[in-house]
Amino acid sequence: MRKQIAAANWKMNLTYQQGAELLKTIVTSGVSPNENQQVLFAVPFPYLELTNDTAHLKENYFAAAQNCSDKKSGAYTGEVSAEMLKSIDVLFCLVGHSERREYFGETNDLLGRKVSICLTYDITPVFCCGEALRIREQNTQNAFVEQQLRESLFHLSSEQMLNVIIAYEPIWAIGTGKTASTAQAQEMHAHIRSVLQKQYGQEIAQKISILYGGSVKANNAKELFACEDVDGGLVGGASLIASDFIEIIRALK
Ligand code: PEP
Repeated sequence: MRKQIAAANWKMNLTYQQGAELLKTIVTSGVSPNENQQVLFAVPFPYLELTNDTAHLKENYFAAAQNCSDKKSGAYTGEVSAEMLKSIDVLFCLVGHSERREYFGETNDLLGRKVSICLTYDITPVFCCGEALRIREQNTQNAFVEQQLRESLFHLSSEQMLNVIIAYEPIWAIGTGKTASTAQAQEMHAHIRSVLQKQYGQEIAQKISILYGGSVKANNAKELFACEDVDGGLVGGASLIASDFIEIIRALK
């Protein structure tokens, strides 16, 4: 069975103290992921060590970075490299969140380099893809997402691809309170898996976790995660509220 994953994305929210409190509440709550489940906290860089320290209190909780540089090291003021993340035991990193694409001009090509450098340092990239409302209205979302996958991931070997997590996040559903219907989510997730299958074969495509992101809440997570090809969620707003995120972890298959 594929790994089932609940990933929190705090974005640029919470002070260190608020973050510490939230983590402690969630990790020490009664909810314990089983061996096939993982809970990730994608937190701001200065909180990563704290997150790892708290996550280590229980099995299957992990810190994740929200971004990393595509460069190995050097004169890139303000950037954080994959090697630096690895040196503090960060094992996961979001790559290509739609906010990075939109506000920081990240392209499929650049994101392909970020994916590669993460894998070089044994960091699992959580590769985000998904279409804007305009694309959905034109009904060209399948081709659009396929191109994102092709241009950022398909240079990877089969072995590397097995270490990638994909997060499908329709931009029109992020932070809007508007969730994709279970039919829309399942349809796109099945499409993504079929694209992976064409490129890497069925065995590999069946092993890759594909998360859904876009207004996942405590009251819709179970229904979304029950879809055959939805292997958990990438959660923004609701991950900032302990009781909501705990419910979302409980909703994992
Ligand atoms: C996200 O941050 O990736 C996200 C999906 O946010 P929200 O859950 O708030 O829509």
